[in-house]
Amino acid sequence: MSHSDNCIFCKIAAGAIPSRKVYEDDELFAFHDIHPWAPVHFLIIPKMHIPSMAQVGPELAALLGRMMVMAPQLAMEQGCNAYPEGGIRILTTTGAEGGQEVHHLHVHVMGGPRPWLKG
Ligand code: 5GP
Ligand code: ZN
Repeated sequence: MSHSDNCIFCKIAAGAIPSRKVYEDDELFAFHDIHPWAPVHFLIIPKMHIPSMAQVGPELAALLGRMMVMAPQLAMEQGCNAYPEGGIRILTTTGAEGGQEVHHLHVHVMGGPRPWLKG
């Protein structure tokens, strides 16, 4: 499951669909959400196709850990205000009842002054 042909986020990670890139390395890709809920709203994804958190096992713990470590660092680079007065919201959706619309694992990172559209 390194890549899924009909997956929009696989295409974004490969550069086949344009996005506003925030960060990229061998394993991860981050880009601004096309419909932001907050002044800063970007997504961090693994480059490999993992459908959701429901498919994650212990072999992916380090990769997921890296995503969580990147979230506040990238948020600060994108202009989010510092903890504790500022801060960020980190959200991941899993399955339809969890609100997941794109079935390639992603972490939403949101921040900036409130009010926000959602969240
Ligand atoms: P989910 O509801 O699956 O947790 O979140 C998917 C997110 O991906 C949504 O917030 C949506 O706005 C964003 N999104 C969907 N398609 C695209 C796209 O083509 N480009 C970008 N940049 N974001 C997208
Ligand atoms: Zn994918």
